[in-house]
Amino acid sequence: MRTLVMATALLLVYSISYAQPEVAIEQWKGKTILLIGAHPDDDSYSMGTLGMLNANGNEVYIAILTTGNVGTQDPDLGMMDLALIRKQEEQDALATMGIPTDHYINLGYDDGMLEYEDTKEVVMKLVRLIRKIRPDVLFTFDPGKGGQRWHKADHRASAYLSADAARAAMWPLMFQGQITVEGLEAHTIPEYILYDSAEEDKDTWVDITGWDERKIDAMSKYVSQFSSGWSDYKGPELSEEEETEVKAQLRKWIEYRNGIPVEGFRYYKGLPDDIGR
Ligand SMILES: [Zn+2]
Repeated sequence: MRTLVMATALLLVYSISYAQPEVAIEQWKGKTILLIGAHPDDDSYSMGTLGMLNANGNEVYIAILTTGNVGTQDPDLGMMDLALIRKQEEQDALATMGIPTDHYINLGYDDGMLEYEDTKEVVMKLVRLIRKIRPDVLFTFDPGKGGQRWHKADHRASAYLSADAARAAMWPLMFQGQITVEGLEAHTIPEYILYDSAEEDKDTWVDITGWDERKIDAMSKYVSQFSSGWSDYKGPELSEEEETEVKAQLRKWIEYRNGIPVEGFRYYKGLPDDIGR
């Protein structure tokens, strides 16, 4: 009995310590990182971390599922206008963080409709991307730990479709035409950084000192989302006065722990089958 208790305690300690990256994320080098999100600006949850990882010699790719073509309250903007605006905003934000804009991939789905798309097709496209990019780490919306986490539409779909794609990518007989015809290989993603997690599930905080102000600059590029451009879009440039105001607001979103600017995530390492456990 005593042995059993000790073994259980050891297992618990092991599983808790195993849940953390072996090397601090701030020290990561030479990794290939893929972020999957639903909208152009969903990288805002991890922009500081992504900028830092890119500068530290990691390859960072951003894959966004929808064009963001309905996210406006401006009655004068059409879907095509908004899709183009949001593409430019995303690229400007990435450029501000030093992330190559040709590492931005958009799968072209309509904003707000992701759950109603053909899910097999979406997963197939994500699997193809995973097999091509072969990431060491996947950044994605947290599907939830021990149960489904509430996210708004598209974020919810993005979380589950990404987890399902990560799982399918490792099995060579799933979407096997990508292997037999396209010459790709199955790929198992070993590590996951889950963003927009429930507060109680966050277990990893990345120190973004030196990247926080740059993150604010990058987020201020999303003029159609985080400024008066949301309801009355007048172009990519903000007046000096509004830029100051927008940045002051964005600065309030930066999270601090012990006075240090951070981004908080749930970290997972292991087979994609258990991302949500
Ligand atoms: Zn979003």
